[in-house]
Amino acid sequence: MNLILLGPPGAGKGTQAKRLEQAHGLVQLATGDMLRAETASGSELGRRIKAVMESGALVSDEIVIEVIEQRIAAPEAKDGVILDGFPRTIPQAEALDAMLAGHDLKLDHVILMEVDEAALVDRLAGRFSCRACGASYHERYHRPKREGVCDVCGSHDFVQRPDDRPEAVQKRFEVYRQQTAPILPYYRAKGILETVDGMGEMDAVTKAIEAIISR
Ligand code: AMP
Repeated sequence: MNLILLGPPGAGKGTQAKRLEQAHGLVQLATGDMLRAETASGSELGRRIKAVMESGALVSDEIVIEVIEQRIAAPEAKDGVILDGFPRTIPQAEALDAMLAGHDLKLDHVILMEVDEAALVDRLAGRFSCRACGASYHERYHRPKREGVCDVCGSHDFVQRPDDRPEAVQKRFEVYRQQTAPILPYYRAKGILETVDGMGEMDAVTKAIEAIISR
């Protein structure tokens, strides 16, 4: 089963993708994580995309398509993938169709997580994660069980994403409205776009997604 989770920044795509990954043995392909790994590696490509990402703008279609293509072609993707953060533009959606067709794969579900933008700014501003294992937390909604200690790996080192600063958050929403929202009619026309209410409790959102994919 191959599916796309769509929604604006902070909608909870990453959280839900991780849950689906564990429950269904699918592989989460998060372009944001892949690009952050590239910037952390200090590679030439990483240096080129760092400033773009920190500003909240999109990395070029060409780079992102190349990054995702390698992963879709990999053997571990054969049992199914959850695309999280890709596609984000019409050319990316078209490239994805071609990639999947080229590997004899098909898209089963495109799930839009509908959310309220004002509430999202609040969600993003309080978001932080463990530098060692990437587990995500929130200052108000999901603090570590022991103050200052990661629940998953015990590390004491936490980071906030530079693009979760208010100016970059505003830019990311603008980019979503202008460049990413146009892919919704693209999938609607194919008859595979479904929506869930992304403002509910995390478990309720998971349940709604499960109901769609088990159909
Ligand atoms: P995310 O972790 O999905 O919020 O992505 C963080 C940042 O990575 C975005 O604001 C973009 O700069 C870049 N990025 C991630 N996925 C894509 C994509 N599919 N196309 C272009 N840029 C992307």
